[in-house]
Amino acid sequence: MDNSPDMRIELGLHIPDDERKIMVLLVDDQPMVGEAIRRALLNDPHIDFHYCEYADNALAVAEKTRPTVILQDLVMPGVDGLTLVRQYRSNLVTANIPVIVLSTREDAEVKRDAFAAGVNDYLVKVPETIEMIARIRYHARAYNNMLQRDAAYRALRESQQQLQKTNFELQRLTNTDGLTGIANRRYLDEYLSAEWRRARREQKEISLLLIDIDNFKSYNDTYGHVVGDHALKQVAHVMETNILRSTDLCTRYGGEEFAVVLPATGRHGAIVAADKICKAVEALKIPHEQSSTGEWLTVSIGVASIVPQAEGGPDDLISLADKNLYQAKSTGKNRVVSDITA
Ligand code: GH3
Ligand code: MG
Ligand code: MG
Repeated sequence: MDNSPDMRIELGLHIPDDERKIMVLLVDDQPMVGEAIRRALLNDPHIDFHYCEYADNALAVAEKTRPTVILQDLVMPGVDGLTLVRQYRSNLVTANIPVIVLSTREDAEVKRDAFAAGVNDYLVKVPETIEMIARIRYHARAYNNMLQRDAAYRALRESQQQLQKTNFELQRLTNTDGLTGIANRRYLDEYLSAEWRRARREQKEISLLLIDIDNFKSYNDTYGHVVGDHALKQVAHVMETNILRSTDLCTRYGGEEFAVVLPATGRHGAIVAADKICKAVEALKIPHEQSSTGEWLTVSIGVASIVPQAEGGPDDLISLADKNLYQAKSTGKNRVVSDITA
């Protein structure tokens, strides 16, 4: 992995001061001043020096070189120094780069204007090497710390977003049956108990269908488990395409059994839905030569509808549907039974 200071700043990691390069950009129209400052900074191994002679170029050079500190002459032909400072401040790339003004004189009014324009420091040229380097280092450290803090926030935000995405996916997987892609038993329990409570509050009917594939053991024995798995997916798909309301939920109850929750649906509506599914599975014409119900794969469905009362719970709905399913099995299979009521 790239362990350079730049990469570590990008990752929001701490960089010791003595590992950080400081890029100084001097903007001054006098090459002699440029030369004097270049020499003064030459002996500091942490400082890289760039010189820009023309005010017209300064912003573009600053944008390109991305200095850690700008040393800015005040009086220049063309654009004056403070106008340039304002331009740095309103540019996205240079807005926060520390600017140290190099002025020809100590003057309260000039100082006031300079700080008002957004400079960070004020030196009279040509400053003492020791003082100049100390100020450059001070501002560079503050700027680097700010960059690092921003990068750390960015990294934190990104990892939070990633975590949120992963949690969301995990949640989805936790509630999904791996084979058929529909909701699993875990989610059925959660959904059914929430809808049961809602129905109890609103005193509305809630219905449940328990769907069991007929003679599925012999289907597996005849065609093998891979074909059996495919049939389970087809039945799940048929359920989903025949269940229309957004509040209805198709789930794999386990093995070759499925459950459908139909909130705000009475016995009549539940029977209609069950009949549709029962006929649609047969209409798939999945060959099953050992079937007791004919030549195709079929299902039996037990229906239960209840207006929840204070006593009892969602299990009542399941056991009622189970009793009707048992009836359907014992009276010939490939049918919907709802005779036993709460
Ligand atoms: P009935 O008509 O009375 O429902 O009889 P059945 O054979 O369908 O019921 P039984 O409970 O005896 O057998 C269920 C079979 O379902 C047994 C098992 O091989 C099969 N099964 C359960 N889960 C899976 C699965 O995930 N994949 C496959 N391929 N088969 C499964
Ligand atoms: Mg079964
Ligand atoms: Mg079965």
